[in-house]
Amino acid sequence: MIENSSIWVVSDVDGTLMDHSYDLTPAKETINTLQKLSIPVILCTSKTASEVRVIRKDLNLTDPYIVENGAAIYGESLKKVNGEIILGKKYEYLENILNLISKEIDYKLIPLNNLSDLEATQLTGLTGNSLNLMRDRHWSMPFLNPPTLLEDRINICCKKFKVDIFKGNRMSHLLSNNSNKGKAINALKKYSNNQNIQIIGLGDSPNDLPLLLKSDIRIVIPGINGPNLNLIDQLKDLEFILASEPNGYGWKNEINKFINKLELI
Ligand SMILES: [Mg+2]
Repeated sequence: MIENSSIWVVSDVDGTLMDHSYDLTPAKETINTLQKLSIPVILCTSKTASEVRVIRKDLNLTDPYIVENGAAIYGESLKKVNGEIILGKKYEYLENILNLISKEIDYKLIPLNNLSDLEATQLTGLTGNSLNLMRDRHWSMPFLNPPTLLEDRINICCKKFKVDIFKGNRMSHLLSNNSNKGKAINALKKYSNNQNIQIIGLGDSPNDLPLLLKSDIRIVIPGINGPNLNLIDQLKDLEFILASEPNGYGWKNEINKFINKLELI
């Protein structure tokens, strides 16, 4: 139960807990160990709730989970709020804002959900029913990365429409400005009514910055070609650990080191 635990592991999924072939195997044993130690593993991802349910089942996790980049939190154990905390704005509302931004910058920004199956597979590597789970989105708006030269103008629009855009490795995410991964962590802390929580945060890209800023121990997970330099740059004045191996292997190593230290005490 998150209410009774003084340590939470809060982890991004894509590129952090698993690589881009969606393999969860490297981190599985470590997650089992955390469960034996009653340390919650709170997945915190841009994925949809439908996608995360499959992963939770695979990992035997029962802790609450943060989805759609912090726009919603779900979990059977969140009984006081009927299993959900919503921070974001509805998909249709965000779609309208994406269209308004497209008009202002005179460049059509394309929602991920508007891609054909083939295009979506090429971008994400997902096929079949996994595409349906990915499209079951309610509180955030992923879209194709715009050309870099438009970014300044897009940022001006974000202020105007009270939204934030996080650029991921493969796509960007439009969110209402009261929802991000960090704000979701705050909401979960508030819900748990537990002020003395040590958060170990793990992430791999700039959309994890709000998560890492809310963490007491920050772990950056590199990909096979090294860490996301944009994220490293944004963290440069803060203390953080850069995992020595990519994806799930880096995740496993760093969490195991932490567990070993705990067991020494
Ligand atoms: Mg990621």
